[in-house]
Amino acid sequence: MAILPILTVPDPILKQVSKPVEVVDDALRALMDDMLETMYDAPGIGLAAIQVGVAKRVIVMDLSREDEEKQPRYFVNPEILSKNDDLEPYEEGCLSVPEVYDTVERPTKVRLRYLDYHGKLIEEEADGMFAVCIQHEMDHLQGVLFIDYLSRLKRERAVTRVKKLVRAA
Ligand code: ZN
Repeated sequence: MAILPILTVPDPILKQVSKPVEVVDDALRALMDDMLETMYDAPGIGLAAIQVGVAKRVIVMDLSREDEEKQPRYFVNPEILSKNDDLEPYEEGCLSVPEVYDTVERPTKVRLRYLDYHGKLIEEEADGMFAVCIQHEMDHLQGVLFIDYLSRLKRERAVTRVKKLVRAA
């Protein structure tokens, strides 16, 4: 496993639309392992492949609390089958927009379909933090960042802040 560099705004690669995965094989599992290690190292709770520069529809996630055992989740070619009409605000952050947090409103429940780590087709319902996180990560697959939901002023401020942070690192 390896820790991969995480791209940050305004890297144009983050705006790319990721391509569907054709087969869940060992090479893809190696990518998912590296993504998970990278996410834990950051640390973060979700990571899309495009954030490490790979334009594939792959997401890793772990929503377990610090005092719980790790619960890694893998989503290949995820699709949202339905979502409810209730929106709820949630303060989001993103490893590609470090140290910036702001509120985004999203549907509170979504029904998902995806392939897991072994290529098995799964359908399930997500709510709470899981719903927020999967929608945030799936936006990455379309080249959308959470700051794209904010006002232009806030978005520009966020990008400037990250640029400074990256330069100082
Ligand atoms: Zn993100």
